[in-house]
Amino acid sequence: MAKVKYYYDPKTLSYRKIEKGTAYRLQRTLLYLASATLMGLLFYVVADNFIDSPKEKRLRRELENMKIQYAIINERMGQLNSVLADLQERDDNIYRVIFEAEPIPETVREAGFGGANRYKKLEGFENSELIKETSKRLDKLTKQVYVQSKSFDEIVKMAEDKNKFLASIPAIQPVANKDLRRMASGYGWRIDPFTKARKMHYGMDFSAEIGTPIYATGDGIVKRADSRASGFGKHIRIDHGYGYTTVYAHLSEYNVRVGQKVKRGEIIGYIGNTGRSRGPHLHYEVRFGDERLNPVNFYYGELTPEEFSTIIDMASRSNQSFD
Ligand SMILES: [Zn+2]
Repeated sequence: MAKVKYYYDPKTLSYRKIEKGTAYRLQRTLLYLASATLMGLLFYVVADNFIDSPKEKRLRRELENMKIQYAIINERMGQLNSVLADLQERDDNIYRVIFEAEPIPETVREAGFGGANRYKKLEGFENSELIKETSKRLDKLTKQVYVQSKSFDEIVKMAEDKNKFLASIPAIQPVANKDLRRMASGYGWRIDPFTKARKMHYGMDFSAEIGTPIYATGDGIVKRADSRASGFGKHIRIDHGYGYTTVYAHLSEYNVRVGQKVKRGEIIGYIGNTGRSRGPHLHYEVRFGDERLNPVNFYYGELTPEEFSTIIDMASRSNQSFD
């Protein structure tokens, strides 16, 4: 309540109320309103800047939590990166070396995503850098994992091819040869058992009694099983693919037909004495294209190093062949 002020009136010898004009009262009211508004504004500015509302407090907590989550994600991506780096290293330095394949170029592994700025929509916020960098890292990681997984697909394919190749090429002896006693004559210049003249012997002879099983020395397809080749008598030819064929001659009996698929170690026929042969034996040849190779180099599938050196030694004796 406004104070009532008085003044002394000497004419009436009494105190009289000071009456204020309308203008004065309006001025006072306006002043009051202005200061109240100013105070309110001041309070609002202070409160807005220094005091959080409950909603702001909640949002701030959420933001803090989000930053922590981003930090955790970044740390986990770091761990994934090191696992991936290990896989990449093994891929280039072990797996691809085994299959004689080129390592994946760094440029392919490190290639980013092309095109316009993929991260534009992430810009313009207080935490833009954090979110942008995390997105970039995640994209890069995704790309590298993709490249790596493609590479492993290729390696699986190469391993399958290699397996097929290893199963196909001749790698064992065509007869059971414990103690290597059946190895009768090797590849090279030998004395012809009929003419007694020196002659090139293009295969290896294994002597054994008639009816002894003969094995396919690698996976393949039977191309011939007949006695129409001069001197070989009943003979079998197997095509192993990759340029390799094997020949088994002087058989007594066939155990396969032309066109049949055979596996390494499968019985294809039996030892005999047909064709130009001096006594029951198997004449065995390994061919690569038109070239006739020394079969002794194709027994690595079953021999110990000692046995291998023994058979090399025996096969190199310049004795008489069985032909
Ligand atoms: Zn021979």
